[in-house]
Amino acid sequence: MITRKEIREREKNVNYFFEFLKIQKHFFKDLIDHLKNIVDHRHQSYITYGPEVILFTMILKNMTGLKSMRTMSNCFNKEECIENVGKVLGLNSLDELPHYDTINDFLSGLDVNELEKIRTYMIKELLKKRSFESYRIEGKYWGIIIDGTGLHTFRDKHCEHCLRRVYTNKETGEKTVLYMHHVLEAKLVVDDMVFSIASEFIENESENVSKQDCELKAFTRLAKKIKQTFKRLPICILGDSLYACESVFSLCNEYKWKYLCRFKEGRIKSVASEFKALKEIEHSKKQEDLFWMNDISYNERTVNLMEAKLETKKGSVQEFVFITDLKITKKNAERLIAVGRSRWKIENQGFNEQKNNRYAIEHANSQNYTAMKNHYVLFQITDIIRQLYERGSKILKTLKKTAKEKSSVLLEAIRTRNLTNEDMTALEKPIQVRFT
Ligand SMILES: [Zn+2]
Repeated sequence: MITRKEIREREKNVNYFFEFLKIQKHFFKDLIDHLKNIVDHRHQSYITYGPEVILFTMILKNMTGLKSMRTMSNCFNKEECIENVGKVLGLNSLDELPHYDTINDFLSGLDVNELEKIRTYMIKELLKKRSFESYRIEGKYWGIIIDGTGLHTFRDKHCEHCLRRVYTNKETGEKTVLYMHHVLEAKLVVDDMVFSIASEFIENESENVSKQDCELKAFTRLAKKIKQTFKRLPICILGDSLYACESVFSLCNEYKWKYLCRFKEGRIKSVASEFKALKEIEHSKKQEDLFWMNDISYNERTVNLMEAKLETKKGSVQEFVFITDLKITKKNAERLIAVGRSRWKIENQGFNEQKNNRYAIEHANSQNYTAMKNHYVLFQITDIIRQLYERGSKILKTLKKTAKEKSSVLLEAIRTRNLTNEDMTALEKPIQVRFT
């Protein structure tokens, strides 16, 4: 046990910004160059700030948990802060940070693909490092969680791509239309971290579409994007019961991916009743908490099902059924159940954390749809670095801070502590990062 005094002593000398940069450099040493080299849509003669200044400022805004663009402009308006950013980016002449209007103008015109390419670079670097090899499913497949969430809701039409939902007031019969933007995420799960590898916005092509876009349609597009970007990556798709269907199974076959999804009876009735019948035959004598059955026919294929009685967080026991094309054996059944349950992480560490604790991703930083998308991808980029920083930085692990404290000590460091030349030299040295 360390005493409170010892904590104060330890903390006095910590520059959290330096700690953050150490982790960023360790995992993504060319990040700043990538930010600098994105395709800039602006007229080059009017540019005050390079893309790396704008994007790095935004990463810092997200890292420090600042909720609005205005707060950011106020908080970062300090000599030390400007100097620190200039040092990191190698710009001695930087004497202001971009105003939030400048940032939003830039993000309104930037092709979302440019930021997606930066995220791809980061994910590929992580995979190259081989730090997470032990988290592959059955020693081979990377677990990719698929999940959709709502981002923004408006009372009035926001743009022609908005999803629309009609609500009818039961008493008055009055109809209200809500306008929304949703996104579908693919997240790589390793240990208790989830890293966004691709995003697909669920959106209507135009206002006049007869059928609105939906999660499964977006999945087809998302999957194609993942296949093109990570051609030979062995993937196992982890989805909720919505994904337990022919279109997803056949797409996985085509791409040589595996799948492991939550299964609910109503999703495929024939499979559910066969599984139930087999269970009754096999299961009549003993009551076990774990039951599985391979090779149940479904269309042109066979599927494998497993059922487990598991304790939920609230202490009650719940039955979980999963459907997969991975062979279930006595040896791997419990492991596969744990993999299936890991999908919850995208809700716990994933979206809930991003919405409520970290970044307020539902707050629209801009009304421009392209800028909204770019802000979203910037949240995901930041979230990759944030998790590595919080799980990898030794000092943060010993000091056990809450999410809010972690953001605020980082903000404090950026605003008040000057990075020294020794710091900058030290950043060039290799470090070791352990996640245990
Ligand atoms: Zn819209």
